[in-house]
Amino acid sequence: MGNIKAYKNFINGQWVASSSGETFNNINPANTDEIIGTFQKSNKDDVLKAIEAAAEAYRKWRLVPAPKRGEILYRVASRLWERKEEISRDTTREMGKVIAETRGDTQEAIDMTFYMAGEGRRLFGQTTPSEMPNKFNMTVRQPLGVCSFITPWNFPIAIPSWKIMPALICGNTVVIKPATDTPLSVVHLMEVFEAEGLPAGVVNMVTGSGGAIGNVMIDDDRVRVVSFTGSTEIGRKVSEGCAPKFKHCCLEMGGKNVMIVMDDGNLDLAVEGALWGAFGTTGQRCTATSRLIIHEKVHDKMMAMLVERANKLKVGNGLDETVNMGPCINQSQLDTVLSYIEIGKKEGAVLASGGQRLTGGAYDKGFFVKPTIFTGITQKMRLWREEIFGPVLSVATFKTFEQAIEMANDTAYGLSAAIYTQDINKAYTAMRDVYTGIFYVNAPTIGAETHLPFGGTKETGNGHREAATAALDVFSEWKSVYVDFSGKIQRAQIDNQ
Ligand code: NAP
Repeated sequence: MGNIKAYKNFINGQWVASSSGETFNNINPANTDEIIGTFQKSNKDDVLKAIEAAAEAYRKWRLVPAPKRGEILYRVASRLWERKEEISRDTTREMGKVIAETRGDTQEAIDMTFYMAGEGRRLFGQTTPSEMPNKFNMTVRQPLGVCSFITPWNFPIAIPSWKIMPALICGNTVVIKPATDTPLSVVHLMEVFEAEGLPAGVVNMVTGSGGAIGNVMIDDDRVRVVSFTGSTEIGRKVSEGCAPKFKHCCLEMGGKNVMIVMDDGNLDLAVEGALWGAFGTTGQRCTATSRLIIHEKVHDKMMAMLVERANKLKVGNGLDETVNMGPCINQSQLDTVLSYIEIGKKEGAVLASGGQRLTGGAYDKGFFVKPTIFTGITQKMRLWREEIFGPVLSVATFKTFEQAIEMANDTAYGLSAAIYTQDINKAYTAMRDVYTGIFYVNAPTIGAETHLPFGGTKETGNGHREAATAALDVFSEWKSVYVDFSGKIQRAQIDNQ
Protein backbone atom coordinates (compact mmCIF):
# COMPACT_ATOMS: atom_id res chain seq x y z
CA MET A 1 0.00 0.00 0.00
CA GLY A 2 3.06 2.27 0.12
CA ASN A 3 2.34 5.69 1.61
CA ILE A 4 -1.42 5.46 1.50
CA LYS A 5 -2.81 6.63 4.79
CA ALA A 6 -5.10 4.28 6.73
CA TYR A 7 -8.02 5.85 8.58
CA LYS A 8 -10.00 4.22 11.36
CA ASN A 9 -13.44 4.42 12.90
CA PHE A 10 -13.95 6.82 15.80
CA ILE A 11 -15.76 5.00 18.59
CA ASN A 12 -15.93 6.03 22.25
CA GLY A 13 -13.15 8.57 21.76
CA GLN A 14 -10.76 6.01 20.22
CA TRP A 15 -9.56 5.45 16.65
CA VAL A 16 -10.26 1.77 16.06
CA ALA A 17 -10.13 -0.70 13.20
CA SER A 18 -13.26 -2.52 12.11
CA SER A 19 -13.67 -6.02 13.48
CA SER A 20 -14.27 -7.05 9.86
CA GLY A 21 -10.55 -6.60 9.23
CA GLU A 22 -11.48 -5.12 5.84
CA THR A 23 -10.93 -1.70 4.35
CA PHE A 24 -11.86 0.19 1.17
CA ASN A 25 -10.06 2.79 -0.89
CA ASN A 26 -11.19 6.39 -1.23
CA ILE A 27 -10.39 7.59 -4.74
CA ASN A 28 -10.06 11.09 -6.20
CA PRO A 29 -12.79 11.42 -8.88
CA ALA A 30 -10.60 13.92 -10.78
CA ASN A 31 -7.69 11.47 -10.89
CA THR A 32 -8.50 7.86 -10.20
CA ASP A 33 -4.80 7.03 -9.83
CA GLU A 34 -4.82 8.97 -6.58
CA ILE A 35 -5.91 6.93 -3.59
CA ILE A 36 -6.71 9.38 -0.81
CA GLY A 37 -6.69 6.76 1.91
CA THR A 38 -8.02 3.46 3.09
CA PHE A 39 -11.06 3.43 5.35
CA GLN A 40 -12.76 0.84 7.52
CA LYS A 41 -15.36 -1.42 5.96
CA SER A 42 -17.46 -1.55 9.09
CA ASN A 43 -19.84 -4.33 10.03
CA LYS A 44 -22.75 -4.80 12.41
CA ASP A 45 -20.45 -5.36 15.36
CA ASP A 46 -18.76 -1.96 14.84
CA VAL A 47 -22.07 -0.16 14.58
CA LEU A 48 -23.33 -1.81 17.77
CA LYS A 49 -20.18 -0.73 19.60
CA ALA A 50 -20.68 2.83 18.39
CA ILE A 51 -24.32 2.80 19.51
CA GLU A 52 -23.29 1.36 22.87
CA ALA A 53 -20.74 4.16 23.34
CA ALA A 54 -23.29 6.80 22.36
CA ALA A 55 -25.92 5.35 24.70
CA GLU A 56 -23.47 5.31 27.60
CA ALA A 57 -22.22 8.84 26.90
CA TYR A 58 -25.79 10.11 26.71
CA ARG A 59 -26.29 9.43 30.43
CA LYS A 60 -23.87 12.25 31.27
CA TRP A 61 -24.00 14.48 28.19
CA ARG A 62 -27.72 15.20 28.56
CA LEU A 63 -26.99 16.64 32.02
CA VAL A 64 -24.18 18.95 30.87
CA PRO A 65 -25.64 22.48 30.92
CA ALA A 66 -26.44 23.55 27.36
CA PRO A 67 -24.23 26.70 27.58
CA LYS A 68 -21.31 24.40 28.49
CA ARG A 69 -22.10 22.17 25.52
CA GLY A 70 -22.11 25.37 23.49
CA GLU A 71 -18.64 26.31 24.75
CA ILE A 72 -17.26 23.11 23.25
CA LEU A 73 -19.00 23.86 19.97
CA TYR A 74 -17.50 27.39 19.92
CA ARG A 75 -14.07 25.83 20.22
CA VAL A 76 -14.90 23.25 17.54
CA ALA A 77 -16.00 26.05 15.18
CA SER A 78 -12.81 28.01 15.84
CA ARG A 79 -10.61 25.00 15.13
CA LEU A 80 -12.52 24.22 11.95
CA TRP A 81 -11.82 27.79 10.95
CA GLU A 82 -8.10 27.35 11.62
CA ARG A 83 -8.09 24.14 9.57
CA LYS A 84 -10.44 25.45 6.86
CA GLU A 85 -7.98 25.46 3.96
CA GLU A 86 -6.53 22.03 4.70
CA ILE A 87 -9.96 20.43 5.20
CA SER A 88 -11.34 22.11 2.07
CA ARG A 89 -8.48 20.84 -0.06
CA ASP A 90 -9.05 17.30 1.18
CA THR A 91 -12.76 17.65 0.46
CA THR A 92 -11.97 18.67 -3.12
CA ARG A 93 -9.64 15.71 -3.44
CA GLU A 94 -12.24 13.20 -2.32
CA MET A 95 -15.38 14.83 -3.73
CA GLY A 96 -14.14 16.68 -6.79
CA LYS A 97 -15.92 20.01 -6.53
CA VAL A 98 -13.82 23.10 -7.03
CA ILE A 99 -11.84 24.49 -4.13
CA ALA A 100 -13.87 27.73 -3.91
CA GLU A 101 -16.92 25.56 -3.31
CA THR A 102 -15.33 23.24 -0.76
CA ARG A 103 -14.19 26.32 1.14
CA GLY A 104 -17.87 27.20 1.15
CA ASP A 105 -18.72 23.69 2.37
CA THR A 106 -16.30 23.99 5.29
CA GLN A 107 -17.54 27.53 5.99
CA GLU A 108 -21.07 26.21 6.18
CA ALA A 109 -19.96 23.73 8.83
CA ILE A 110 -18.26 26.57 10.72
CA ASP A 111 -21.36 28.77 10.48
CA MET A 112 -23.62 25.97 11.66
CA THR A 113 -21.33 25.16 14.58
CA PHE A 114 -21.19 28.79 15.75
CA TYR A 115 -24.94 29.11 15.28
CA MET A 116 -25.72 26.03 17.36
CA ALA A 117 -23.12 26.99 19.97
CA GLY A 118 -25.14 30.18 20.46
CA GLU A 119 -28.31 28.12 20.87
CA GLY A 120 -26.72 26.72 24.03
CA ARG A 121 -27.68 30.00 25.70
CA ARG A 122 -31.16 30.03 24.16
CA LEU A 123 -32.98 26.75 23.50
CA PHE A 124 -36.00 28.83 24.38
CA GLY A 125 -39.16 27.32 25.76
CA GLN A 126 -42.28 29.22 26.73
CA THR A 127 -44.01 30.28 29.88
CA THR A 128 -47.71 30.83 29.70
CA PRO A 129 -50.36 31.61 32.31
CA SER A 130 -52.27 28.78 33.91
CA GLU A 131 -56.05 28.76 33.84
CA MET A 132 -55.81 28.01 37.59
CA PRO A 133 -54.64 30.33 40.38
CA ASN A 134 -51.28 29.61 41.98
CA LYS A 135 -50.09 27.41 39.19
CA PHE A 136 -47.14 27.93 36.79
CA ASN A 137 -46.90 26.56 33.26
CA MET A 138 -43.87 26.25 31.02
CA THR A 139 -42.41 24.23 28.17
CA VAL A 140 -38.86 22.88 28.04
CA ARG A 141 -36.96 21.02 25.32
CA GLN A 142 -35.65 17.58 26.24
CA PRO A 143 -33.15 15.50 24.24
CA LEU A 144 -34.09 12.10 22.86
CA GLY A 145 -30.93 9.99 23.17
CA VAL A 146 -28.83 8.37 20.47
CA CYS A 147 -29.13 9.81 16.96
CA SER A 148 -28.06 7.91 13.81
CA PHE A 149 -26.95 9.95 10.83
CA ILE A 150 -26.52 8.73 7.27
CA THR A 151 -25.10 11.38 4.95
CA PRO A 152 -24.37 11.81 1.22
CA TRP A 153 -21.18 12.75 -0.60
CA ASN A 154 -22.09 16.07 -2.18
CA PHE A 155 -21.61 18.23 0.94
CA PRO A 156 -19.17 16.00 2.79
CA ILE A 157 -18.69 18.21 5.86
CA ALA A 158 -21.59 20.69 5.75
CA ILE A 159 -24.38 18.11 5.84
CA PRO A 160 -22.86 16.12 8.73
CA SER A 161 -22.51 19.39 10.66
CA TRP A 162 -26.18 20.29 9.98
CA LYS A 163 -27.11 17.14 11.83
CA ILE A 164 -24.41 16.78 14.48
CA MET A 165 -24.36 20.34 15.88
CA PRO A 166 -28.08 20.75 16.63
CA ALA A 167 -28.19 17.19 18.00
CA LEU A 168 -25.33 17.90 20.41
CA ILE A 169 -26.58 21.26 21.63
CA CYS A 170 -29.90 19.66 22.54
CA GLY A 171 -28.05 17.02 24.62
CA ASN A 172 -28.18 14.00 22.31
CA THR A 173 -25.32 11.74 21.32
CA VAL A 174 -24.44 10.65 17.79
CA VAL A 175 -23.39 7.82 15.51
CA ILE A 176 -22.63 8.94 11.96
CA LYS A 177 -21.92 7.00 8.79
CA PRO A 178 -20.56 9.23 6.04
CA ALA A 179 -20.98 8.37 2.35
CA THR A 180 -18.51 5.78 1.11
CA ASP A 181 -17.23 8.26 -1.48
CA THR A 182 -16.33 10.99 1.06
CA PRO A 183 -15.38 9.69 4.50
CA LEU A 184 -12.26 11.85 4.98
CA SER A 185 -14.16 15.09 5.57
CA VAL A 186 -16.02 13.50 8.48
CA VAL A 187 -12.76 12.02 9.81
CA HIS A 188 -11.50 15.62 10.00
CA LEU A 189 -14.62 16.64 11.87
CA MET A 190 -14.00 13.84 14.39
CA GLU A 191 -10.39 14.98 14.80
CA VAL A 192 -11.64 18.44 15.69
CA PHE A 193 -14.14 17.10 18.23
CA GLU A 194 -11.38 15.01 19.78
CA ALA A 195 -8.94 17.94 19.89
CA GLU A 196 -11.50 20.16 21.58
CA GLY A 197 -12.28 17.68 24.34
CA LEU A 198 -15.75 16.49 23.45
CA PRO A 199 -16.33 13.68 25.97
CA ALA A 200 -15.73 10.16 24.64
CA GLY A 201 -18.73 8.52 23.04
CA VAL A 202 -20.72 11.73 22.47
CA VAL A 203 -19.95 11.54 18.74
CA ASN A 204 -18.95 8.31 17.00
CA MET A 205 -18.18 7.59 13.36
CA VAL A 206 -18.25 4.33 11.43
CA THR A 207 -17.33 4.21 7.76
CA GLY A 208 -18.53 1.66 5.24
CA SER A 209 -21.37 0.73 2.98
CA GLY A 210 -24.84 2.04 3.73
CA GLY A 211 -26.33 -1.04 2.14
CA ALA A 212 -24.41 -3.25 4.58
CA ILE A 213 -24.79 -1.38 7.89
CA GLY A 214 -27.53 1.22 7.35
CA ASN A 215 -30.23 -1.07 8.71
CA VAL A 216 -28.31 -1.66 11.97
CA MET A 217 -28.00 2.08 12.47
CA ILE A 218 -31.73 2.46 12.02
CA ASP A 219 -33.11 -0.60 13.77
CA ASP A 220 -31.33 -0.70 17.14
CA ASP A 221 -33.73 0.10 20.00
CA ARG A 222 -31.31 2.56 21.59
CA VAL A 223 -31.43 4.79 18.52
CA ARG A 224 -34.24 7.32 18.92
CA VAL A 225 -33.64 9.67 15.98
CA VAL A 226 -32.59 8.83 12.44
CA SER A 227 -31.62 11.67 10.15
CA PHE A 228 -30.89 10.83 6.53
CA THR A 229 -29.87 12.91 3.54
CA GLY A 230 -29.67 11.18 0.18
CA SER A 231 -31.82 9.77 -2.57
CA THR A 232 -35.58 9.43 -2.33
CA GLU A 233 -35.22 5.72 -3.05
CA ILE A 234 -33.03 5.03 0.01
CA GLY A 235 -34.92 7.61 2.08
CA ARG A 236 -38.08 5.60 1.60
CA LYS A 237 -36.32 2.50 2.97
CA VAL A 238 -35.04 4.50 5.94
CA SER A 239 -38.54 5.77 6.63
CA GLU A 240 -39.95 2.23 6.51
CA GLY A 241 -37.18 1.05 8.84
CA CYS A 242 -38.05 3.73 11.40
CA ALA A 243 -41.82 3.33 11.31
CA PRO A 244 -42.33 0.09 13.31
CA LYS A 245 -40.55 1.54 16.34
CA PHE A 246 -41.94 5.06 15.92
CA LYS A 247 -38.49 6.58 15.68
CA HIS A 248 -38.11 10.22 14.87
CA CYS A 249 -37.09 10.22 11.24
CA CYS A 250 -35.88 13.27 9.36
CA LEU A 251 -35.41 12.86 5.61
CA GLU A 252 -33.82 15.26 3.13
CA MET A 253 -33.97 13.80 -0.38
CA GLY A 254 -34.02 14.54 -4.07
CA GLY A 255 -34.92 17.60 -6.07
CA LYS A 256 -35.86 18.72 -9.58
CA ASN A 257 -35.49 22.40 -9.05
CA VAL A 258 -36.84 25.00 -11.41
CA MET A 259 -35.78 28.48 -12.47
CA ILE A 260 -38.45 30.64 -14.12
CA VAL A 261 -37.27 33.50 -16.31
CA MET A 262 -39.98 36.05 -17.12
CA ASP A 263 -39.83 38.27 -20.21
CA ASP A 264 -39.00 41.26 -17.97
CA GLY A 265 -36.22 39.39 -16.16
CA ASN A 266 -32.66 40.71 -16.18
CA LEU A 267 -31.17 38.25 -18.66
CA ASP A 268 -27.53 38.87 -17.72
CA LEU A 269 -28.39 38.04 -14.13
CA ALA A 270 -30.51 35.06 -15.13
CA VAL A 271 -27.71 33.61 -17.28
CA GLU A 272 -25.27 34.03 -14.41
CA GLY A 273 -27.76 32.36 -12.07
CA ALA A 274 -28.54 29.48 -14.44
CA LEU A 275 -24.84 28.69 -14.94
CA TRP A 276 -24.17 28.68 -11.22
CA GLY A 277 -27.39 26.83 -10.38
CA ALA A 278 -26.98 24.14 -13.03
CA PHE A 279 -23.23 23.57 -13.10
CA GLY A 280 -22.08 24.54 -9.61
CA THR A 281 -20.95 21.35 -7.80
CA THR A 282 -21.17 19.71 -11.26
CA GLY A 283 -24.95 19.78 -10.87
CA GLN A 284 -24.64 17.44 -7.92
CA ARG A 285 -26.56 19.57 -5.46
CA CYS A 286 -29.96 18.62 -4.17
CA THR A 287 -30.87 22.25 -4.96
CA ALA A 288 -29.25 22.29 -8.41
CA THR A 289 -31.18 24.11 -11.14
CA SER A 290 -32.16 21.23 -13.39
CA ARG A 291 -35.21 22.76 -15.11
CA LEU A 292 -34.98 26.20 -16.68
CA ILE A 293 -38.22 27.61 -18.05
CA ILE A 294 -37.92 30.73 -20.12
CA HIS A 295 -40.66 33.01 -21.41
CA GLU A 296 -40.96 32.35 -25.15
CA LYS A 297 -40.31 36.02 -25.96
CA VAL A 298 -36.80 35.91 -24.50
CA HIS A 299 -35.98 32.22 -24.96
CA ASP A 300 -33.76 32.50 -28.03
CA LYS A 301 -31.86 35.49 -26.72
CA MET A 302 -31.21 33.93 -23.34
CA MET A 303 -30.27 30.57 -24.84
CA ALA A 304 -27.66 32.17 -27.09
CA MET A 305 -26.13 33.94 -24.10
CA LEU A 306 -26.28 30.82 -21.94
CA VAL A 307 -24.75 28.43 -24.45
CA GLU A 308 -21.91 30.83 -25.18
CA ARG A 309 -21.08 31.03 -21.48
CA ALA A 310 -21.54 27.29 -20.81
CA ASN A 311 -19.13 26.43 -23.62
CA LYS A 312 -16.49 28.56 -21.95
CA LEU A 313 -16.69 26.87 -18.54
CA LYS A 314 -13.39 25.25 -17.69
CA VAL A 315 -13.77 21.67 -16.50
CA GLY A 316 -10.99 19.94 -14.59
CA ASN A 317 -9.36 19.19 -11.27
CA GLY A 318 -11.04 21.32 -8.61
CA LEU A 319 -7.74 22.13 -6.92
CA ASP A 320 -6.87 24.28 -9.93
CA GLU A 321 -8.25 27.70 -8.95
CA THR A 322 -9.03 28.52 -12.60
CA VAL A 323 -11.34 25.53 -13.02
CA ASN A 324 -15.10 26.22 -12.96
CA MET A 325 -16.46 22.70 -12.73
CA GLY A 326 -15.07 19.44 -11.37
CA PRO A 327 -15.85 15.80 -12.21
CA CYS A 328 -18.84 13.63 -11.39
CA ILE A 329 -18.34 11.82 -8.10
CA ASN A 330 -17.80 8.28 -9.44
CA GLN A 331 -18.14 5.95 -12.40
CA SER A 332 -21.72 5.09 -11.60
CA GLN A 333 -22.77 8.75 -11.44
CA LEU A 334 -20.91 9.42 -14.68
CA ASP A 335 -22.74 6.51 -16.32
CA THR A 336 -26.07 7.87 -15.05
CA VAL A 337 -25.36 11.31 -16.50
CA LEU A 338 -24.27 9.88 -19.87
CA SER A 339 -27.33 7.65 -19.98
CA TYR A 340 -29.63 10.64 -19.38
CA ILE A 341 -27.89 12.49 -22.22
CA GLU A 342 -28.78 9.56 -24.49
CA ILE A 343 -32.33 9.49 -23.14
CA GLY A 344 -32.65 13.23 -23.90
CA LYS A 345 -31.53 12.71 -27.49
CA LYS A 346 -33.84 9.70 -27.97
CA GLU A 347 -36.83 11.57 -26.57
CA GLY A 348 -36.32 14.37 -29.10
CA ALA A 349 -34.81 17.08 -26.92
CA VAL A 350 -32.37 19.37 -28.73
CA LEU A 351 -28.78 19.25 -27.55
CA ALA A 352 -27.66 22.88 -27.34
CA SER A 353 -24.36 22.44 -25.56
CA GLY A 354 -22.04 19.73 -24.23
CA GLY A 355 -23.48 16.25 -24.27
CA GLN A 356 -20.38 14.14 -23.94
CA ARG A 357 -17.71 12.83 -21.66
CA LEU A 358 -14.45 14.75 -21.74
CA THR A 359 -11.50 12.63 -22.80
CA GLY A 360 -7.83 12.97 -23.56
CA GLY A 361 -4.89 13.75 -21.29
CA ALA A 362 -5.81 14.22 -17.63
CA TYR A 363 -9.50 13.86 -18.47
CA ASP A 364 -8.98 10.15 -19.05
CA LYS A 365 -8.20 9.70 -15.35
CA GLY A 366 -11.41 11.32 -14.11
CA PHE A 367 -15.19 11.32 -14.43
CA PHE A 368 -15.54 14.53 -16.46
CA VAL A 369 -18.56 15.56 -18.52
CA LYS A 370 -19.09 18.75 -20.51
CA PRO A 371 -21.71 21.11 -19.10
CA THR A 372 -24.79 20.02 -21.01
CA ILE A 373 -27.90 21.94 -22.02
CA PHE A 374 -30.99 20.53 -23.72
CA THR A 375 -33.76 22.70 -25.16
CA GLY A 376 -37.16 21.78 -26.52
CA ILE A 377 -37.97 19.89 -23.35
CA THR A 378 -41.59 18.86 -22.85
CA GLN A 379 -43.26 17.93 -19.59
CA LYS A 380 -43.57 14.28 -20.61
CA MET A 381 -39.84 13.78 -21.08
CA ARG A 382 -37.76 11.96 -18.48
CA LEU A 383 -35.30 14.85 -18.46
CA TRP A 384 -38.13 17.00 -17.15
CA ARG A 385 -39.30 14.54 -14.52
CA GLU A 386 -36.30 12.68 -13.13
CA GLU A 387 -33.44 13.85 -10.95
CA ILE A 388 -30.18 13.41 -12.86
CA PHE A 389 -27.74 14.79 -10.29
CA GLY A 390 -25.21 15.93 -12.82
CA PRO A 391 -24.36 18.85 -15.13
CA VAL A 392 -27.41 18.56 -17.36
CA LEU A 393 -29.83 21.48 -17.69
CA SER A 394 -33.23 20.97 -19.29
CA VAL A 395 -34.81 24.06 -20.87
CA ALA A 396 -38.47 24.57 -21.75
CA THR A 397 -40.56 27.60 -22.71
CA PHE A 398 -43.87 29.06 -21.54
CA LYS A 399 -46.30 31.69 -22.78
CA THR A 400 -48.02 32.94 -19.62
CA PHE A 401 -47.10 33.43 -15.99
CA GLU A 402 -49.89 31.04 -14.94
CA GLN A 403 -48.41 28.37 -17.21
CA ALA A 404 -44.97 28.93 -15.65
CA ILE A 405 -46.37 28.31 -12.17
CA GLU A 406 -48.14 25.17 -13.34
CA MET A 407 -44.92 23.92 -14.94
CA ALA A 408 -42.85 24.76 -11.87
CA ASN A 409 -45.14 22.63 -9.72
CA ASP A 410 -45.20 19.76 -12.21
CA THR A 411 -42.68 17.62 -10.36
CA ALA A 412 -42.66 14.92 -7.71
CA TYR A 413 -40.14 16.94 -5.69
CA GLY A 414 -40.32 20.25 -3.85
CA LEU A 415 -36.96 21.50 -2.69
CA SER A 416 -36.03 24.80 -4.34
CA ALA A 417 -37.33 27.18 -7.01
CA ALA A 418 -36.41 30.60 -8.38
CA ILE A 419 -37.95 33.37 -10.45
CA TYR A 420 -36.22 36.14 -12.38
CA THR A 421 -38.51 39.11 -12.86
CA GLN A 422 -38.64 42.86 -12.20
CA ASP A 423 -42.36 42.64 -11.44
CA ILE A 424 -42.85 42.54 -7.69
CA ASN A 425 -46.41 41.27 -8.02
CA LYS A 426 -45.29 38.28 -10.05
CA ALA A 427 -42.39 37.63 -7.69
CA TYR A 428 -44.68 37.48 -4.65
CA THR A 429 -47.33 35.47 -6.44
CA ALA A 430 -44.75 32.89 -7.49
CA MET A 431 -43.30 32.84 -3.98
CA ARG A 432 -46.77 31.98 -2.68
CA ASP A 433 -47.85 29.52 -5.36
CA VAL A 434 -44.75 27.44 -6.11
CA TYR A 435 -44.87 24.61 -3.58
CA THR A 436 -41.27 24.18 -2.42
CA GLY A 437 -39.38 24.49 0.85
CA ILE A 438 -37.00 27.13 -0.53
CA PHE A 439 -37.69 29.98 -2.94
CA TYR A 440 -35.46 32.61 -4.51
CA VAL A 441 -36.22 35.87 -6.29
CA ASN A 442 -33.59 37.01 -8.79
CA ALA A 443 -31.14 34.41 -7.50
CA PRO A 444 -30.54 30.79 -8.53
CA THR A 445 -32.00 27.76 -6.78
CA ILE A 446 -28.82 27.21 -4.75
CA GLY A 447 -27.37 29.30 -1.95
CA ALA A 448 -28.99 28.41 1.38
CA GLU A 449 -27.81 30.11 4.57
CA THR A 450 -27.51 28.20 7.83
CA HIS A 451 -29.87 30.34 9.92
CA LEU A 452 -32.89 29.65 7.71
CA PRO A 453 -34.75 26.33 7.66
CA PHE A 454 -33.63 23.96 4.91
CA GLY A 455 -35.72 21.21 3.36
CA GLY A 456 -38.42 20.45 0.86
CA THR A 457 -41.97 19.40 0.19
CA LYS A 458 -43.48 16.32 -1.49
CA GLU A 459 -40.88 13.59 -2.24
CA THR A 460 -38.00 15.80 -1.11
CA GLY A 461 -38.75 15.50 2.58
CA ASN A 462 -41.07 14.25 5.29
CA GLY A 463 -42.03 17.55 6.83
CA HIS A 464 -38.95 18.31 8.91
CA ARG A 465 -36.43 21.05 8.32
CA GLU A 466 -32.71 21.15 8.91
CA ALA A 467 -30.67 24.19 10.00
CA ALA A 468 -31.93 27.27 11.86
CA THR A 469 -33.95 26.76 15.03
CA ALA A 470 -36.16 24.38 13.00
CA ALA A 471 -33.42 21.77 13.47
CA LEU A 472 -33.96 21.88 17.21
CA ASP A 473 -37.43 20.43 16.68
CA VAL A 474 -35.86 17.32 15.15
CA PHE A 475 -33.45 16.81 18.03
CA SER A 476 -35.60 17.65 21.04
CA GLU A 477 -39.07 16.92 22.27
CA TRP A 478 -41.28 19.33 24.10
CA LYS A 479 -42.13 18.69 27.72
CA SER A 480 -45.01 20.73 29.14
CA VAL A 481 -44.51 21.35 32.85
CA TYR A 482 -47.24 22.34 35.32
CA VAL A 483 -46.22 23.48 38.81
CA ASP A 484 -49.11 23.79 41.26
CA PHE A 485 -48.23 25.84 44.34
CA SER A 486 -51.80 26.25 45.61
CA GLY A 487 -51.45 23.47 48.16
CA LYS A 488 -54.68 21.83 47.01
CA ILE A 489 -55.95 19.69 44.15
CA GLN A 490 -56.98 21.83 41.18
CA ARG A 491 -58.68 20.11 38.27
CA ALA A 492 -58.16 21.72 34.86
CA GLN A 493 -61.34 22.22 32.80
CA ILE A 494 -63.48 21.23 35.85
CA ASP A 495 -62.78 23.46 38.84
CA ASN A 496 -62.72 26.65 36.81
CA GLN A 497 -65.96 26.22 34.87
P1 NAP B 1 -27.78 7.72 -1.56
O1 NAP B 1 -27.30 6.72 -2.53
O2 NAP B 1 -29.20 7.65 -1.14
O3 NAP B 1 -26.80 7.63 -0.31
C1 NAP B 1 -26.95 8.45 0.81
C2 NAP B 1 -26.42 7.74 2.03
O4 NAP B 1 -27.23 6.59 2.27
C3 NAP B 1 -24.98 7.24 1.87
O5 NAP B 1 -24.30 7.37 3.10
C4 NAP B 1 -25.21 5.76 1.53
O6 NAP B 1 -24.11 4.94 1.88
C5 NAP B 1 -26.39 5.45 2.42
N1 NAP B 1 -27.13 4.24 2.03
C6 NAP B 1 -27.09 3.57 0.86
N2 NAP B 1 -27.89 2.49 0.92
C7 NAP B 1 -28.45 2.48 2.13
C8 NAP B 1 -29.38 1.62 2.79
N3 NAP B 1 -29.92 0.55 2.18
N4 NAP B 1 -29.72 1.92 4.07
C9 NAP B 1 -29.21 3.00 4.70
N5 NAP B 1 -28.33 3.83 4.13
C10 NAP B 1 -27.97 3.59 2.85
O7 NAP B 1 -27.59 9.21 -2.11
P2 NAP B 1 -26.26 9.85 -2.69
O8 NAP B 1 -26.07 9.30 -4.06
O9 NAP B 1 -25.17 9.74 -1.71
O10 NAP B 1 -26.69 11.39 -2.76
C11 NAP B 1 -27.42 11.90 -3.81
C12 NAP B 1 -28.86 12.12 -3.41
O11 NAP B 1 -28.95 12.88 -2.22
C13 NAP B 1 -29.62 12.93 -4.44
O12 NAP B 1 -30.88 12.37 -4.64
C14 NAP B 1 -29.74 14.30 -3.78
O13 NAP B 1 -30.83 15.07 -4.23
C15 NAP B 1 -29.86 13.94 -2.35
N6 NAP B 1 -29.50 15.05 -1.48
C16 NAP B 1 -30.50 15.71 -0.84
C17 NAP B 1 -30.20 16.79 -0.02
C18 NAP B 1 -31.29 17.52 0.70
O14 NAP B 1 -31.01 18.19 1.68
N7 NAP B 1 -32.54 17.43 0.27
C19 NAP B 1 -28.87 17.18 0.15
C20 NAP B 1 -27.88 16.48 -0.52
C21 NAP B 1 -28.21 15.40 -1.33
P3 NAP B 1 -23.00 4.56 0.77
O15 NAP B 1 -22.32 5.84 0.43
O16 NAP B 1 -22.14 3.59 1.48
O17 NAP B 1 -23.75 3.99 -0.39
